[in-house]
Amino acid sequence: MGADCVFCQIVNGSIPACKIYEDQYMLSFLDIAPVSPGHCLLIPKKHYATLSECPQEVVAQLAGQLAAIGDAVVGATKAQGYNILNNNGRCAGQLVGHVHFHIIPRIEGDGVLSGWPAGKYPQGLIEEIAKEIKSLL
Ligand code: AMP
Ligand code: ZN
Repeated sequence: MGADCVFCQIVNGSIPACKIYEDQYMLSFLDIAPVSPGHCLLIPKKHYATLSECPQEVVAQLAGQLAAIGDAVVGATKAQGYNILNNNGRCAGQLVGHVHFHIIPRIEGDGVLSGWPAGKYPQGLIEEIAKEIKSLL
């Protein structure tokens, strides 16, 4: 367990949460500060700070459940779709240092996650970045 980790405390039952799914690997519950009604989180029961630290088989178990939770949340909230979001690192908006996926139900025109800052590459940069990434994989 991560020292002072709020999500570990939810896993061990020392703080309450509105749980919607649980198995040996993972727990899903409603986010207390939803960006849309029904906004849920899916976490591994074991503490890993980021996706990079989480073993692939655990990530695979969680990933395998995401669509089912997304569909159930959409059904329950009468939404039309959902976003899956995983913030890694403080600079990326990660406030809780226990890896988690957000499942965010969406309705056309709801304005949630609006303002996607789509950019443009100058000539040659896209290939250069792709080459650098490939060299690290
Ligand atoms: P992130 O910014 O990706 O680290 O997201 C952390 C999320 O955890 C936020 O959306 C918080 O609202 C949510 N959160 C924090 N504490 C709790 C809690 N006790 N129960 C449910 N959700 C929580
Ligand atoms: Zn934790």
